[in-house]
Amino acid sequence: MKGQRATIPLVNLTRQYESLRVEVMAAISEVLETKEFILGPHVRRFEEEFARYLGVSHVVGCSSGTSAISLALEALGIGIGDEVITVGHTFAASAGAICNVGAVPVFVDVESECYTMDPARLASAITSRTRAVLPVHLYGTPCDMGQISLIAADHGLKVVEDAAQAHGAALDGKRVGNFGDAATFSFYPGKNLGAYGDAGAVATNDDEVADRLRKLRDHGRRSKYAHDIVGYNHRMDGIQAAVLAVKLGRLESWNARRRALAARYDSALVARGFKVICPPPSVIPAYHLYVVEVGNREEVQSALEAGGIASGVHYPIPLGKQRAFAAFAGRGPSEITDRAAGRLLSLPICGELRDEEQDRVIDVFLATAQP
Ligand SMILES: *Cc1c(COP(=O)(O)O)cnc(C)c1O
Repeated sequence: MKGQRATIPLVNLTRQYESLRVEVMAAISEVLETKEFILGPHVRRFEEEFARYLGVSHVVGCSSGTSAISLALEALGIGIGDEVITVGHTFAASAGAICNVGAVPVFVDVESECYTMDPARLASAITSRTRAVLPVHLYGTPCDMGQISLIAADHGLKVVEDAAQAHGAALDGKRVGNFGDAATFSFYPGKNLGAYGDAGAVATNDDEVADRLRKLRDHGRRSKYAHDIVGYNHRMDGIQAAVLAVKLGRLESWNARRRALAARYDSALVARGFKVICPPPSVIPAYHLYVVEVGNREEVQSALEAGGIASGVHYPIPLGKQRAFAAFAGRGPSEITDRAAGRLLSLPICGELRDEEQDRVIDVFLATAQP
């Protein structure tokens, strides 16, 4: 990522910490006093609070967003040789986690409005080996889950939402996390809801799936020395849960600020002919990232960097073209994926970004960028 020394970072975790220091320190010190370092009451409390926030029956905390995806797939019975359809335009973990359970990622193209899974491409990529769909709510924009769920139901496919970038985003009045058999979240520090280390969670409305998830993340245990299934060590730490419980109380206001900043970017950039994401009215986006298409990306990044402004590219290489996934060719065209990888630029956005800082970003951007 460019802009290590930038005065305007993509995400201002320093400023965020300053606003939380007292509460976070108290929460961490409570974990230290109780020595409940792994799972335990702080994890249970955060799971309950996050489940209530999402409006789901169960949240199962785990060690990362990546382990959340593989745990969810395994809990739903997806394994060796099963095809899981996802998009080529996402972070590598979406596909890596599919491979980690022995399944086969199949990459389909995204649609051109929001850069999320194109339901028509999904439909034409299904084969007799397809077992599941992993749509990604990329940048915090919910996918077209209505269409995706219909297609999945028609073919008897499991649906796992990758909601690593979409904490609090909603579609048709329901938060993401409610649209599949399971949904996975990452609490990587830079996410909309971020821990102070690695952490993740799976949300589900299915009691049996939740039960399997709780066993799988903790050595397949039913009780201390009774192991029902072969599991993993993919547990959540008490300290991370305590930090997340503090931050969960701020998530709504941070997301609202992100949407206000996105609206300010939109009005400045659309007026100058730039293509930005315009989600449909049924969607409340979480704006994990603010992306815009540009024709001269490297030049714009250099100009921003010279002005002390960080920027990012999410993501420059489609997964179907990564060496790691060379064995898993995409299915169907990848025009929009390729275009997005070549043209999208991420500008600073977070709950702590100030109007005057954003105005600086907009000025430098508009002085250099070409649509
Ligand atoms: C961050 C992210 C993940 C992985 O989460 P980790 O907590 O870093 O393992 C998975 N999918 C997407 C789309 C992500 O952005």
